[in-house]
Amino acid sequence: MEYRRLGKSGLKVSELSFGSWVTFGNQVDIDLAVDCMAAAYDAGVNFFDNAEVYNKGKSETVMGAALKKLNWERDSYIISSKVMWGSKENPKPTQMGLSRKHLVEACDQAIARMGCEYLDLYFCHRPDPEVPMEEIVRGMTELILRGKVFYWGTSEWSAASIQEAYAVARQYDLIPPTMDQPQYHIFHRNRVEKEYASLYNVDNVGLGTTIWSPLASGLLSGKYNDGIPDDSRVNLPGYEWLKEMLMSEQWQSRLESVRQLSKVADDLGTTMPRLAIAWCLKNPNVSTVITGASKVSQVTENMEAIKVVPQLTDDVMKKIDDITKGLAE
Ligand code: NDP
Repeated sequence: MEYRRLGKSGLKVSELSFGSWVTFGNQVDIDLAVDCMAAAYDAGVNFFDNAEVYNKGKSETVMGAALKKLNWERDSYIISSKVMWGSKENPKPTQMGLSRKHLVEACDQAIARMGCEYLDLYFCHRPDPEVPMEEIVRGMTELILRGKVFYWGTSEWSAASIQEAYAVARQYDLIPPTMDQPQYHIFHRNRVEKEYASLYNVDNVGLGTTIWSPLASGLLSGKYNDGIPDDSRVNLPGYEWLKEMLMSEQWQSRLESVRQLSKVADDLGTTMPRLAIAWCLKNPNVSTVITGASKVSQVTENMEAIKVVPQLTDDVMKKIDDITKGLAE
């Protein structure tokens, strides 16, 4: 495992990390969380991603209980939370959004659920147009100065909004964002590759990226190539929207191209999940690829992706581009 700088910060994050969206508190209970996190940690993963909204706080509770059982040295790993949609079933107006009040209260609640003293990374899960940028940057700066958070960042913010946050921080001598958490995989490229291009410069924001859904929720694992296995994400209650997406014309065309990509993986003597994750790792502006898994076997399989990166020659990358031409956004 290699460790990459989180943007221009001094924090070293493992190139592969592990997240708990959908899985923890749903498909994955505390014991399975312990096993999955241990498999990832033993492979060198040092970053575990979470959010207040994941299974309405349950994901953080499960991760906290798992961390307690695992009893790792606290300074050997990084944990995150994200704030925006709240952790309640029907949040009241003060229980969501990026107001200073919710930033601070949600942080305290995430810390309590995870049974830790501080969060290493804290993300604004989406932009909140109803809160002035100065209030957000000031709120995050205050959390850092109070020792509750070490680095703050954004998730799926436009380049213009990240640039604005950076400018506000510089103007008022506050702490600028360190990283964004954008979606990035073979079919979803533009934000990371084009929109954010100017933000990576260390003389500017020096943005780090903790990218999500490297397998497009499983599509790029090849698991849907021959139909829908019973125990997959698209069959979970509450994820009917994902099944609809999979059945859409666009995703069926993507699925057809995954069948062709699987042959590329075969020719390289590797597997489709490894190829898809390695493709994300190939981009030097990606600080870490957050993997997800509902089983230990998936964690161990996905960790093998680091070995495939050297096989991704210009020729192989071109083959992938040719196969997915017109299907990526
Ligand atoms: P992926 O796209 O990699 O999907 C992971 C899912 O794919 C697994 O839960 C599993 O689902 C299936 N899978 C994983 N590995 C394999 C394998 N080797 N073979 C077959 N199937 C496999 O990542 P996620 O969508 O889970 O996203 C990763 C993390 O990113 C999240 O946990 C979260 O931390 C973060 N995230 C952040 C977002 C944001 O807005 N900031 C949004 C979404 C995610 P199953 O077995 O159930 O089919």
